[in-house]
Amino acid sequence: MSEQFEAIVLGGGPGGYVCAIRLAQLGVKTVCIEEEEYGGVCLNWGCIPSKALIANAHFFDKAKTIGAHGIEVSQVTVNAPKMQEWKDGIVKKLTGGVRGLLKANGAQIIEGRGRLVDKNTVEVTEKSGGKRRVSASKAIVIATGSSTIQVPGFEFDGKSILGAREAVSLRAIPKRLCVIGGGVIGLELGMVYQSFGAELTVVELTSGLLPGVDPECVKVVERSITKHGGKIFKNTKAERQEKRPDGTVVVHVTSEGKPMTIEADQVLVAVGMKPRSKGIGLEELGVTIDARGFVPTNELCETNVPGIYAIGDVSGQPMLAHKASKEGEVAAEVIAGHAAGKDWLTVPGIIFTHPEIAMAGLTEEQATAQGYSFKVGKFPFSALGRAMSIAETDGFVKVLFDEKTRRILGIHIVGPSASDLISEAVLAVETMVSVEDMSLAIHPHPTLGEALMEAAAAAQGHAIHVVNR
Ligand SMILES: Cc1cc2nc3c(=O)[nH]c(=O)nc-3n(C[C@H](O)[C@H](O)[C@H](O)COP(=O)(O)OP(=O)(O)OC[C@H]3O[C@@H](n4cnc5c(N)ncnc54)[C@H](O)[C@@H]3O)c2cc1C
Repeated sequence: MSEQFEAIVLGGGPGGYVCAIRLAQLGVKTVCIEEEEYGGVCLNWGCIPSKALIANAHFFDKAKTIGAHGIEVSQVTVNAPKMQEWKDGIVKKLTGGVRGLLKANGAQIIEGRGRLVDKNTVEVTEKSGGKRRVSASKAIVIATGSSTIQVPGFEFDGKSILGAREAVSLRAIPKRLCVIGGGVIGLELGMVYQSFGAELTVVELTSGLLPGVDPECVKVVERSITKHGGKIFKNTKAERQEKRPDGTVVVHVTSEGKPMTIEADQVLVAVGMKPRSKGIGLEELGVTIDARGFVPTNELCETNVPGIYAIGDVSGQPMLAHKASKEGEVAAEVIAGHAAGKDWLTVPGIIFTHPEIAMAGLTEEQATAQGYSFKVGKFPFSALGRAMSIAETDGFVKVLFDEKTRRILGIHIVGPSASDLISEAVLAVETMVSVEDMSLAIHPHPTLGEALMEAAAAAQGHAIHVVNR
């Protein structure tokens, strides 16, 4: 006998738990099945833990440099185990909060690994090893997320070869850290440990870091890495590694066609995440899985099999928590019979490097490819009083607008609090704000947000605090 529900959500990450909460709010009898811990990658070893460490790295950087502003700090050291306890406390609070929210909204939870046995039924292998079956009369939502991609020859051992999961839990700061992969996760975590004193080397297979990101923004971050002593090797392939008796890992690479070695104490492999779509019964039910392992969906989050939905990382790019959550809400609304769909114009992206990069809407490359005739305006943080007063003047805001409609097409920020400033840009792109609106709206002084207003003015050739060219 199986327990009866109207909806089953498989996976309790930011896609799954949000979907389950919304379903329950809409009166749909729902169960959310999770095999590890509610909150998924995001809360347990992704967004939140990494950002906690990044925030600490900023505090540490500030403490080291604040002497120049007249605040004398005698000794700044890192207590890595204590930092981990602090970070784990945040994770515990948040994952406990998610469980509480699921229950308070009336969604049931089952802890165990789920597998679809038919298009209405999931068999759960509970943590205790016991098996139970649950059925759904309306929908099953696949929200199983993604897992780390491994590089052959660099299998994670939790000691010297690490994935992101291990890298957010280090109880000692490596002296030399080699990061394989110059993408978001590699640079974010690499820069954390660089701040804490590690000699950072980044190995990137392609000709550039952070593919798809505004190249001028990337340059600012690259400069920051090298200014602090980091090395970046592009067009470089990690081939193999060997460990010396003294613990040193020797990474053999081919750089620009030539063999080379990099010595490190620890290696972080950060070459991306892959969808978790296999082994959960989807193939057997005829659910389409594409060549990269994603489960394609339409704008209603439906897969090709009626009644089976997919959301979040498992359903495609961009693999971001806020996209997973929004899809979770859309799927829930659709299942409950409401009008909903994936009709957004932009999914913002943030790279929590130092300085941060944040973007909403089109890059110049995309705008060109889509045939727009557009103009660009830039405003540097070095010209902003507020940025000077917080000693964070690297970077700029860039605004792109369509010359025909005057609509803002994209905003790219590299600099202080880019992660917070981008929300205004998201609203601007999503609600099709004109470049005039953005420059005319009074932005309070002295704030970092003035840079958006000034960049919009610069795009029209009349910024006040920089010389217009
Ligand atoms: C180091 C790192 C930093 C990141 N930082 C950011 C960031 O700053 N901002 C951002 O937006 N994104 C960030 N991400 C990406 C973000 O974590 C993911 O996009 C997000 O977690 C995806 O949510 P999801 O619900 O689709 O999947 P997940 O979070 O992967 O959750 C899926 C859940 O399903 C469970 N599950 C899987 N299979 C089964 C099964 N068969 N039965 C039961 N349960 C199952 C898993 O245990 C997991 O808990 C980061 C990722 C990493 C690794």
